[in-house]
Amino acid sequence: PNNCFYAGLDLGTSGCRLIVIDGNQAVRAEARVVYPEEPSPPSPLPEVEGGKTALWWDAVQQVMAEIPETIRTTLQGIAVDGTSGTILLADANGNPTTPALMYNDARALEQSRRIAAIAPRDSGAHGATSSLAKLLWLLEHYPDQPHAYVLHQADWIAGKLAGQFGFSDENNCLKLGYDPVKREWPAWVKALVPEHLLPRVLVPGEKIPPAPPFAKGGVREPAAVPIPPFAKGGLGGIFLHAGTTDSIAAFIATGASELGDAVTSLGSSIALKIISDKPVFAPEFGIYSHRLGDKWLAGGASNSGGAVLLQHFSRDDLQRLTPQLQPDKPTGLDYYPLSKPGERFPHADPQWLPRLSPRPADDVQFLQAMLEGMSRIEREGWQRLHELGAPYPRTLRTVGGGSRNPAWMQMRERLIGVPFVPSLHDEAAFGAALLACGAIKS
Ligand code: ADP
Repeated sequence: PNNCFYAGLDLGTSGCRLIVIDGNQAVRAEARVVYPEEPSPPSPLPEVEGGKTALWWDAVQQVMAEIPETIRTTLQGIAVDGTSGTILLADANGNPTTPALMYNDARALEQSRRIAAIAPRDSGAHGATSSLAKLLWLLEHYPDQPHAYVLHQADWIAGKLAGQFGFSDENNCLKLGYDPVKREWPAWVKALVPEHLLPRVLVPGEKIPPAPPFAKGGVREPAAVPIPPFAKGGLGGIFLHAGTTDSIAAFIATGASELGDAVTSLGSSIALKIISDKPVFAPEFGIYSHRLGDKWLAGGASNSGGAVLLQHFSRDDLQRLTPQLQPDKPTGLDYYPLSKPGERFPHADPQWLPRLSPRPADDVQFLQAMLEGMSRIEREGWQRLHELGAPYPRTLRTVGGGSRNPAWMQMRERLIGVPFVPSLHDEAAFGAALLACGAIKS
């Protein structure tokens, strides 16, 4: 297993990251490229040529070129993760026929209303940022192109590497309306969009069937098939494996893999994810479930979190004040830190009010009260997920900026009362590499 190499490619929000592991899950090579800044804000109807897809593909080629040739030429498998909800349409050769609409693009508001009228409540396709709403928008604004495939960011990159398109995974497809329980495209999705555009949905980690020999193909022009820059004469014995979304890859990367293994992400928001034996769907709380191997990944996110901290403290303040926190001397204040009214999880209430008063004169006390409030929100989150059918955490791993605050970790550990364990890795690319080496059994 020491000289079998598996690559994970992560197309994240700010750049592309490649991690290569061996069969013992040890990291053997890594590379990162930050996407260049866009020269101007994207227009409402961007041109099809170039654009985002060209940036992604350049970044992939760059990170591939950066790893040692001995490793690059002996890769056994590759899996790709990408930002969830980023999609484009492409022709039969995989050439974009529309621009890519990014994960946070919310222009498809009107389309989301049409989806809301027919989709079941617990579908992942609700909302203006869903891939399905974006697909409807793209079909309406680019009606005359030779569309053959709808592809998520990860699907398109994997397709470029595999030399064929039309495959996706159960995680990326959730926001496109795929039903993960019945494992099919529901009739209501097929009524909204041409069925031939929908990808064949694979289990994350499953091998993408090898492309037919180009000479016999006939469907695709050989000239349009990309010759990956890292393997002489094409992809040879390398398998592309179905990927996942960036946040699920980051979850897998932590090493969480058993029932009840939970991960808290303390970033701009507080996001909770736990491995469950059954799916949990509670749209009012923004709770959806993805398949993960033979189990389920359920999670929800609070609007509270690091973004609120940064409204009141600079990063330097946080560094300076943290050593003065006293986790074993609670302030007694009952804060619910939010930047504006409205919460979804663990309380589903668009009018839910922030509580950040009374404000103590001492900044250390103020910071501590905010962290205590967020720790309680997290505990309530785990309780809510449990009430809705997920296990209560058995182990807890923490990722994100807040995980570097030891005092906050102590407050949380005391309050939540489950063993905190270290993460294996904090990069989504490592999770994708685990998928490529078959670490997630389905
Ligand atoms: P995201 O990718 O969601 O923006 P990160 O995982 O990079 O977030 O984490 C950034 C967050 O971490 C910031 O919002 C910040 O408030 C928080 N953070 C940074 N340093 C500390 C600290 N010492 N204590 C608590 N939170 C911190």
